[in-house]
Amino acid sequence: MSDLSRPEGPRIMAVANQKGGVGKTTTAINLAAALVEQGMRVLVVDLDPQGNASTGLGVEAVDRELTTYDLLMDDAPLDDVIQKSSFDGLYIIPATVDLSSADIELMSNEKRSFLLHDALRQTAMDKFGWDYVLIDCPPSLNLLTVNAMVAAHSVLVPLQSEFFALEGLSQLMLTIREVRQTANAGLRIEGVIMTMFDRRNNLSQHVEKDARDNLGDLVFKTVIPRNVRVSEAPSYAVPVLSYDTNSQGATAYRALAKELLSNHNKLAA
Ligand code: ADP
Ligand code: MG
Repeated sequence: MSDLSRPEGPRIMAVANQKGGVGKTTTAINLAAALVEQGMRVLVVDLDPQGNASTGLGVEAVDRELTTYDLLMDDAPLDDVIQKSSFDGLYIIPATVDLSSADIELMSNEKRSFLLHDALRQTAMDKFGWDYVLIDCPPSLNLLTVNAMVAAHSVLVPLQSEFFALEGLSQLMLTIREVRQTANAGLRIEGVIMTMFDRRNNLSQHVEKDARDNLGDLVFKTVIPRNVRVSEAPSYAVPVLSYDTNSQGATAYRALAKELLSNHNKLAA
């Protein structure tokens, strides 16, 4: 059954936006956990040298012996780079600051845009039976982010409910178009998710309306509220879904997972 629903292996999603602090890592971690709760087998790939997804999922710096860097640059075997996270059933390939040099080292490699793509399509991936792979991108449109877009089926774009939120989007869309033309014709936009939404704030409402007017159905119906529990969870090294399971943030990420799954027709009737 699960094999029929994903004949070509897992659905790989790059969580990308070149702006920092818009909720990429928060969305990667918590959407991944919410998908696990729905019975999916999920892997997070930390592709940001800051390693925030690794920290937020309980992989401490001392335990990051083999990382995304080793996967990309040294052909490290998947078995050695994939680790259990602090959330039961969720796995992660962690990152360290090493990864920042990969961006430069990659320049001279003729397969520079395809390293992550090739790494995630090793036959060794099959035995894990992943349903979803979520790639947490750095806040930049550099070669690492291009690697994520080349490896991915789709791009999930967190958009902070703030002034100027839409401004950076045209550059992001341009990069997606370039990747389509050169390396990954099938790359789709999974959707735009409004993050840190404050219902009492007119500005949030305004930005949401703007996004829906401009982007239409690309914007998820689910909106992620600004919720202090979401921002506290990483310091306990767990997703908000286990830190405060009934919080507004946890509830919103569960709704996002369900919306995504129903978009993919993966929910059982
Ligand atoms: P990015 O990965 O895009 O740089 P983060 O996911 O790290 O962004 O989020 C930036 C900051 O905002 C973090 O401190 C995070 O805890 C906080 N944050 C993200 N989403 C929410 C939310 N829904 N409510 C409250 N704080 C949030
Ligand atoms: Mg981040």
